[in-house]
Formats: sequence, C-alpha cells, structure tokens
Amino acid sequence: MLLEVRNLSVSYKGIQALRDVSLHVNRGEMVALVGSNGAGKSTLLNALSRTVVPQRGQVVFDGKDLGRMAAFQVSRQGLLHVPEGRQVLADMSVWENLQLGMLALGQRPARYSLEQVYGIFPILEERADQIAGTLSGGQQQMLAIGRALMGAPEILLLDEPSLGLSPLMGDQVFDALTRLNREGLTILLVEQNAYRALECTQRAYVLDRGRIVMEGASDVLMRDQRVIESYLGA
Ligand code: ATP
Repeated sequence: MLLEVRNLSVSYKGIQALRDVSLHVNRGEMVALVGSNGAGKSTLLNALSRTVVPQRGQVVFDGKDLGRMAAFQVSRQGLLHVPEGRQVLADMSVWENLQLGMLALGQRPARYSLEQVYGIFPILEERADQIAGTLSGGQQQMLAIGRALMGAPEILLLDEPSLGLSPLMGDQVFDALTRLNREGLTILLVEQNAYRALECTQRAYVLDRGRIVMEGASDVLMRDQRVIESYLGA
C-alpha cells in the first residue's frame, strides 16, 4: 500500500467538506475518485497535498505518517498534486516551469529526465521557450503534468485534467496518463467525466457530500445501476 488515508475530516468555517474518509492506493495502481460537484473531491486532494489542513484523520504515505508536514515537505516525499486549473507560472517559459518542478526532488533522485518528459509531451519541447501563459489550455495541462513529473512523483494526484479541454486534447492527456501508469506510475485521479475516469482506472471511490459511498473495481462500478443513474447518465 503506497497511500493510506484513515478517517480524514475537513471543514471550512462550519461547512463539513469531508467526513471520515478512508481509502487507499496501492503502488502501481491508477485509482479514480468520482462524485458530483461539491462532493469534496478537490478538498480530498488538497488535504493530501496539505494545501488544506485536515481537522482529523491520518495520512500514511510510503510508510510515513504525513502528520503535520507542510505542503512543500509533502511534495518532497514524492506526493505531487496537479491542481484544478493547472496553475502553471504564466510569466515564465515552458522550460523554466519544468525546471521549477525539480524543486520537489529535495534529496531524492530524478525519475523522469527532461528528454523523457519531452518524449511524453512533444509539444513542450516545440514550445520550450514560449511563455506558459500563452499556451492553450490543453498545452498548459500537459505542462502542469510535465512539471510534476520533473519532481519524481511516487504518486500523482490529478484534479480534473480534462476540464475545459477539447475532446481531442482531453484524449491526448488521458492517453499520456494511461501510458505513464502502465509504465509504473501510481495515479489518483479526480475527473468530472466519470465514464472516462472509470474507463482508464483499475479501482474507484465514489464520494457524495463528503463521504465515500461506494468503492470497487472500476469496470464493476461502470455497470452498477446506482452509478449509471447518478454519474454516467441513464
Ligand atoms: P467540484 O467538482 O465542483 O470542484 P468537488 O467535489 O471538488 O467539487 P470541493 O471543491 O472539494 O468539491 O468542495 C466541497 C465542499 O466544500 C463544497 O460544499 C464547497 O462549497 C466547499 N468548499 C470548498 N472549498 C472551500 C473554501 N475554500 N471555503 C469554503 N468552502 C469551501
């Protein structure tokens, strides 16, 4: 087990966004977290990467209790988060953004070289000198993932990687993620398009109003009547 979350609870000034959430991700897995708007999916990823501080619960990553670690310390353990909205450094070049990803290495060795990242997303090499803010949404998403890869992730947390992208761009991003997972990268994926998320993952959790209400093999959940009615459209 690479990531284990036990009884995690988060509230924002009285709004309880997560209640007693427990889940795990095994090394090498690609796991989806699906649920409606406001279910708490982003909050869960933010609590794991410590951009939000949980009130209660425990997160054990690679055998270490993340305890009260700050966000930069968590990223240096190899838990890397590509947040919703990508958040590339808009005034810096593509190459500079990728170099900054290496800050997450700390004392750990690299896992992907710049050449490997360019191999996965050739557009980043073509646009290496371009200012990141002038890239298209899909290209910025690729840059955000590439930047995380430069920080040697043991697990990649992805928040809605296809949000706002054309179907073609969304497919390209998902093809890259599927390939990265096949080559051994562990991924926890939040995705608005539940069908796409279930299609490309091995297991999934369904979050509803801050609680895990279902979990199981993605192909089984895809055929579950409750999942079809609530999340996949009848
Ligand atoms: P979406 O798909 O719309 O992003 P989500 O499943 O990611 O939804 P969250 O963004 O985690 O859900 O939100 C969970 C709940 O917490 C919602 O009720 C939301 O309004 C609330 N919430 C999220 N962030 C904050 C915040 N910074 N301050 C106050 N409430 C928040």
